[in-house]
Amino acid sequence: MADIMSPEQRSERMSRIKGQDTCPELLLRSALHRKGLRYRLHVTGLPGRPDLVFPRHGAVVFIHGCFWHQHKNCKVAKVPQSNTAFWQEKFARNLRRDHSNMRDLRALGWRVAVAWECQITNKAALDRTVERIERFVRGA
Ligand SMILES: [Zn+2]
Repeated sequence: MADIMSPEQRSERMSRIKGQDTCPELLLRSALHRKGLRYRLHVTGLPGRPDLVFPRHGAVVFIHGCFWHQHKNCKVAKVPQSNTAFWQEKFARNLRRDHSNMRDLRALGWRVAVAWECQITNKAALDRTVERIERFVRGA
């Protein structure tokens, strides 16, 4: 398989693989699966490679790391104290890319939602997120 990930995507993917945060992502996925929702993973043909794609419902879901994607008002999303300018610029680039991917997806007729990492890392939050994403996907 060709390596088409940017360094940012790769480091994000790596941080997911290394950290325990792969686990909550799997929990979210299996909970949605139990609800009868069928998805495809990391579809390369779509802008931003959404983490979950629900073709039957015309919906995509990104599972975003709070740090890399700068979740608003989230304690995980603090800009590091050293190299601040570097990080600010990096985050600004990430956000611009996120927004443009979402705009492109919507222009293609997809509905787009984001599940934030901090919203799936404990059981209570995960349950709420599963409910929210299920409602979103079914368009209810
Ligand atoms: Zn967060």
